[in-house]
Amino acid sequence: MLKKLSKKVTAAVTAAALGTSLIFSAPAPAEASVLTDMILTGASAAMTYSQLNKELKAFDETEEGRDALYRQFQEQTGVNYDPTLNARMDRIMTNLTRAVGEIDDSIYDKPYKYYVSSAEDLNAFCSLGHVMVVNTGAFNALSTDDEIAAIVGHEMGHGQKDHVIKGNKKQLNKLVAAQLGATAVGGGALVSAIAAVTAQGSIAHGNRKYETEADNLGWEYMLNTDYNIGATAAVMQKLYELSGGQSGGMFASHPDTDKRRDNYAKKLYEYSGKHASANDGTVIINNQIFTTVAATNSMSSAERSYFVLGNLAKAYHNGKNSATATVYNGTVYLDDQPIMTPAAGDEDAYTLAERLNSIK
Ligand SMILES: [Zn+2]
Repeated sequence: MLKKLSKKVTAAVTAAALGTSLIFSAPAPAEASVLTDMILTGASAAMTYSQLNKELKAFDETEEGRDALYRQFQEQTGVNYDPTLNARMDRIMTNLTRAVGEIDDSIYDKPYKYYVSSAEDLNAFCSLGHVMVVNTGAFNALSTDDEIAAIVGHEMGHGQKDHVIKGNKKQLNKLVAAQLGATAVGGGALVSAIAAVTAQGSIAHGNRKYETEADNLGWEYMLNTDYNIGATAAVMQKLYELSGGQSGGMFASHPDTDKRRDNYAKKLYEYSGKHASANDGTVIINNQIFTTVAATNSMSSAERSYFVLGNLAKAYHNGKNSATATVYNGTVYLDDQPIMTPAAGDEDAYTLAERLNSIK
């Protein structure tokens, strides 16, 4: 059945699937041209919705379809075979697959097919058929596996809840409706249908309800790993800074990154039993200032403070706060839980340990 798929439909479905990326809506012009081309040439004019539905399902659920999509994406984006990056990607996928499996063992029926793309922009996406792609640009911009894991966890949330196929169905339904309209009333309806679909920036850009669900699932998955759970808020802080605080344009497909960050910050606060929080780089414990975290070459003060908050939240959640804070090899600990490793510009470890003991 897949052999009968036209190249144009494959391209359109692929382009549609691109729209569910984590951070940005997919590049609209390329998608719009595929869509326009598909409608104007009538490549799928004879297709009914149920036929399209069948085609989508084949891509999503059969090994043959999943392989076809995987290869198509690899051709489209290029593949980075760098052994270090691929080792990181393998590790992250293994850890997160196990973490998802603790909640949702259907992941073992349809394991993610993944690769590192050559693309230089900070992005990742999950396509139909659990094809997972993380850009080289994400590895370049994010210095920790924890933050990459936070991104991949979000994408797995989309994957596990079939957001990709759900989102595309809606848009493809519109496509079919546009074609039927065109048959009945001529070219005008076609043009307006194209405008209606392409005005949204992409064929299947993120639905905000799905985005929130994916963020919340990503959090649950991260809790089942050894990654720093503060990376969830930290990576949103990074995106917020990179966007210059803008909420539209390239970032239109997802809820504002500052709101997503705050959603995670609230979860961290609650996970700590309402003992620890962070505000603009300052870490607060029991309503008292613990420290204002210094910026490093790779992270702002605010981004880095969420890592300290993640450690504190874990410590409080696991009852490690009853231990006396100690310093070992330059790192402040509560029991065996690392809290903070001072960098240049931070207060020294002994000062931090002393303050932690007085306010925790
Ligand atoms: Zn998303």
